[in-house]
Amino acid sequence: MSLVATLYSAPSRHLLSQRPDHPVLYFAPSILQATARRFLSGFPGLVTYAVKANDAEEVLQNLMAAGVEAFDVASPFEMARVKQLMPSAVLHYNNPVRSEAEVAASIGHGVASYSVDSLGELGKLVRGGVPLSAEVSVRLRLPVKGAIYDFGAKFGADPELAVALLKAVAEAGFTASMTFHPGTQCADPAAWRAYIDICAEVAQRAGVKLVRLNVGGGFAAHRTGGAPDLEAIFAAIKTATLCAFGADVPALVCEPGRAMVAESFSLATRVKAIREDGAVFLNDGIYGGLAELPILGNIDRIEPVASGCIRKAAPVEHIVFGPTCDSLDRLPGTVPLPGDLAEGDWLVWHGLGAYSTATVTRFNGYGAIEVVTTDCLA
Ligand SMILES: *Cc1c(COP(=O)(O)O)cnc(C)c1O
Repeated sequence: MSLVATLYSAPSRHLLSQRPDHPVLYFAPSILQATARRFLSGFPGLVTYAVKANDAEEVLQNLMAAGVEAFDVASPFEMARVKQLMPSAVLHYNNPVRSEAEVAASIGHGVASYSVDSLGELGKLVRGGVPLSAEVSVRLRLPVKGAIYDFGAKFGADPELAVALLKAVAEAGFTASMTFHPGTQCADPAAWRAYIDICAEVAQRAGVKLVRLNVGGGFAAHRTGGAPDLEAIFAAIKTATLCAFGADVPALVCEPGRAMVAESFSLATRVKAIREDGAVFLNDGIYGGLAELPILGNIDRIEPVASGCIRKAAPVEHIVFGPTCDSLDRLPGTVPLPGDLAEGDWLVWHGLGAYSTATVTRFNGYGAIEVVTTDCLA
């Protein structure tokens, strides 16, 4: 990330004074820190940040400054990145598939907690010499709906296997816990309730008292239809855990990625061309900062910033393409944009801090996104 010397009050101020022809991602550290404090004070347990959502140094540093001390990492690269900024950081290694070399690296980084979803992977941890002081969480999967896409399609053990795994974890002498991920952009507390209930059942069948229950990430960010009520989800998680576990209630852990970071970044794209048929071409698209839109759908906060006179016409539905020569580089459906939108105008997409810079490519020579720090984003 590059930092500009002037702290602009909002993206439009920077756009109109600098008139950038490349995409710009605006970062408001104050929003990120406020979100971190909201999780730290509202979630009834340990808050870890899922680094994959956005691993930028400025993001990690601001989370640390706000009081986040534990991180969900998926690779030795992420471990090193976190430890370099905060040597005392607590690492949870929750990618349940690891090579022997990755297990060795994790021991070197002093990982405190691992997740497993197969007996083979548990065996790898034992053979690799993971210390018994480590926590090993069995990752459960259920066919529950509520999120935009299903994380259970790749990782997680069905309840039957989870019982066997939990017994094996306890027998091996590790601290035995459980975890799940309800799926990203999940706004339905029922998804957490279903998982928490079955975790309690699995623990009971295995005859193992869970030390901790990690309820995953998946918390929704504002993509369409308003800001999600995180506190309602926190309360539902707490109540469901108390009801399901009774006297054996485990300590809770969460690992938000998207909901922690999404709101603190906005992406400005420039209108390169408007064709005779109304199709709009932008200077960034699905191989850049808008990568998630074809998967999760368009978002509803797009702020036009006119390069000339203020645009006053009513919105018109436009087909929107990214800059590369690949015909897949198109946003889903159509997007409502001002009827008098002009070439050279900018469109600022709000709430784009998660899975944007993290997955950007330089395909076709595009994707050079500048990061500019701002006071706020509105
Ligand atoms: C991706 C991931 C997260 C973060 O998910 P969000 O939907 O971004 O909150 C948390 N935990 C694990 C294990 C993940 O793979």
